[in-house]
Amino acid sequence: MTSAVTDSIAITPIAYIESPYKEKFAIPRQPGLASAAKGKVILCNEANDPQMVRELAQYSHIWLLFVFHGTQNQGWKPLVRPPRLGGNKKIGVLATRSTFRPNPIGMSVVKLDKVEDNSKQVVLHISGLDLLDKTPIIDIKPYVPYSDALSDAQAGFAQQQPSKQLSVHFTAAAKAQIAQFKSHYPDLANLIEQVLKQDPRPAYKADKLDEKQYGMSLYDFNISWKMIDLTQVNVLSVVETD
Ligand code: SAM
Repeated sequence: MTSAVTDSIAITPIAYIESPYKEKFAIPRQPGLASAAKGKVILCNEANDPQMVRELAQYSHIWLLFVFHGTQNQGWKPLVRPPRLGGNKKIGVLATRSTFRPNPIGMSVVKLDKVEDNSKQVVLHISGLDLLDKTPIIDIKPYVPYSDALSDAQAGFAQQQPSKQLSVHFTAAAKAQIAQFKSHYPDLANLIEQVLKQDPRPAYKADKLDEKQYGMSLYDFNISWKMIDLTQVNVLSVVETD
């Protein structure tokens, strides 16, 4: 006999994310778009047990199921305006990867660089993440290509990664600032470039001249940048936060 349908389900996080992305703005829209983004999955509660990750290291990629904790209190609507469609067209929330969902659950495939389980803390080192710092993880599963990678799948407006990418330049001042942090953050310039290439601005700005000076946070840095024209962006400064 099947059990009755339940109205609510209690879920406890099994891990938290350490991410270079300290705020939502400029996080890539999907994983894998900025491979220089390195993060950690810190297992917690009962899941902080080396037995939980035995043999996981044989997989190159893992699925992370997580809670959109940064937006979960902002509610949801049945129709959303995906940024990929310029923010003009409304489509069903379940036909999108919007963060504003009935249950605020996200899923991302990330590269598993290393499993560290030699102390009291189990840590998964990952890259290519699209997650905000401190995101609660509710499950981790190995990525299984024979089943998860479907080369003939149709994906409507999201069939391909957006082809338009910005070219990213650095001022001499920004290059000098990045050089100071090279020993601790060898990939910082790469990460800034990969993030800005995606054009993190709201979609409606993409085809307009834009004089605004933008700021974004990566790791402990405030990064200022400005558009040069419609296709080029200039990184003005990279300053450590206090
Ligand atoms: N790959 C996931 C998916 O498909 O479920 C996430 C896709 S969602 C469009 C990606 C965006 O979620 C990022 O650009 C970032 O703005 C946002 N995001 C990431 N982590 C978040 C969190 N913990 N809370 C709220 N928003 C988050």
